[in-house]
Amino acid sequence: MKYRILGQLTGPQGRAECPVEAPVPPGTGLEWSGLVRGEIRLEKAGEEYLARGYLQATVLLPCSRCTVTHPVPLRLELEESVALRQIDEPQAYEETDEAAPLPILVGEAVDLSELVRQILVLNVPARSLCRPDCHGICPQCGQDLNQGQCDCAIKEVDPRLAALRELL
Ligand SMILES: [Zn+2]
Ligand SMILES: [Zn+2]
Repeated sequence: MKYRILGQLTGPQGRAECPVEAPVPPGTGLEWSGLVRGEIRLEKAGEEYLARGYLQATVLLPCSRCTVTHPVPLRLELEESVALRQIDEPQAYEETDEAAPLPILVGEAVDLSELVRQILVLNVPARSLCRPDCHGICPQCGQDLNQGQCDCAIKEVDPRLAALRELL
């Protein structure tokens, strides 16, 4: 995800457009389906630069109820502070300030892989359902209740029905 835009960024305009259409950068720890697409605009803001735009990608998540892997489309707005500093400079990461701008230079090129990776990872939902009315799995026998009811629920009801019958 490299862009030859250093001239535009440091020139009088102080900004550049970066269309994004690439495989999801490695290191997210997640499975993705297809490419990440979007548009990131870099613009000078004081000493640093502001990266603004949007990203679209589809992450594959296990359902929080039935654990079936399902695609979850994400559309994210982003607004992050970035700096024209070398990514591999050791001092680039020495600042402990969490709001420290992310370095984006690799040699003479702007590399947005790390920015995109971070934005994606931070915005993946912690919980997701394969469908809104997913029935989940039976906690006792592990049956996928979307495929049909198991016998456990019936057995549970039995003693209560028996008690009711006694009352009657
Ligand atoms: Zn489910
Ligand atoms: Zn069951």
